Amino acid sequence: MNQPESKIETERLYFQDAYLQEFTARVLARETREGFPVVVLDRTAFYPESGGQPHDLGWLNEVRVIRVEEENGLILHFLEKELAGEEVRGRIDWPRRFDHMQQHTGQHILSQAFYELVKGETLSFHLGQEESTVEIGLQAIKDETLTRVEELANRVVFSDLEVKTYFLSEERVSSIPLRKPPKKAGLIRVVEVDGFDYSACGGTHCRRTGEVGLIKILKQEKIRGNVRFSFVCGFRAWQEFENCRRSLQQAARLFSAEEAEVAACAEKSLAELKNLKKRQKKLEERLSFFEAREMLARSSSKIISGFYPDRSPEEIKFLALNLVHQAELLVVMAAQRDQYFHLVLAASDSLKLDVREVIPVLQAEIEFKGGGSPTLAELVSAEKEKAERAVTLAVEFFKDRTGLS
Ligand SMILES: [Zn+2]
Repeated sequence: MNQPESKIETERLYFQDAYLQEFTARVLARETREGFPVVVLDRTAFYPESGGQPHDLGWLNEVRVIRVEEENGLILHFLEKELAGEEVRGRIDWPRRFDHMQQHTGQHILSQAFYELVKGETLSFHLGQEESTVEIGLQAIKDETLTRVEELANRVVFSDLEVKTYFLSEERVSSIPLRKPPKKAGLIRVVEVDGFDYSACGGTHCRRTGEVGLIKILKQEKIRGNVRFSFVCGFRAWQEFENCRRSLQQAARLFSAEEAEVAACAEKSLAELKNLKKRQKKLEERLSFFEAREMLARSSSKIISGFYPDRSPEEIKFLALNLVHQAELLVVMAAQRDQYFHLVLAASDSLKLDVREVIPVLQAEIEFKGGGSPTLAELVSAEKEKAERAVTLAVEFFKDRTGLS
């Protein structure tokens, strides 16, 4: 952006009053960037993307502001379409901004709680659309300690401390216990959570800690040898609680149980399911013995083949094994599961064949993975529509190769 006059900066109204939702301003400059009209105002309540806090959205007159950036002291408002006039009325999307203020102030409190209890320094902060994260300079943290950190942060919230913002010169900044040294020189903007935390920060914050609402850590993960914590504050924490309640109620209804019993019910059901699966497998094995016997009674051919889209790969494997054990046979069978088809190739030992010889022939047309032994091979392919073709190809190959029919 061309400087309209040297050393002119946009006056940041949110520094004095983070609660200002509407303002009037004068257009200082206009241009087009990335295809969007961009305006610079003499003053603005719009917060530009910086320091981990996303930019505001809103309107200048009736034109939507879709992005806000800072460049050399000027605030650039990216607009949805051209904006007429030199005097404009600005209005920020307040629910979005207030949400950012809750998450951001919550982060200051949480960061100081980590520092006070375990000397964990905040290395970075990111305010995301659903969750925010802080990366803390710790290798690990015990669950009990994390609970204490969260408890301290929430005590600060419920104490409803004042959050003050003021500017200090570089020389005077050493007189306060800043949590982290400032990144830039000159006048430093300090955000103080009354006597609890002192940070150099240019963001927007709540005026009292009570407005932050509940602070809740959701999860932790290792990153770059540190721990990154995801958290939510305020309305987001309420929404999270609401979602958890709904899931729990739904699960309790499914089990016809009390909410406190859901975990025990789930554990019991999983154990039962495991037993049933074991039993099912045994029954399938026994059933396939009789099915094989029946098939052999009806057929006199030496090659038995088929495509069974409704049966599991395990079932056709049992069936194929039973067939080749009960008679001198070659079996080619396919089944389907999800996006894949499975091909089972089996031969009686007495045939002295290697069923794997067909694999290169199949692979010339169909992409497969898998393998096996001379008497049993299993192949898997994502080309589901070619299952029947694979069975035909294999049968033709074995007929030519062995003279069996
Ligand atoms: Zn801040």
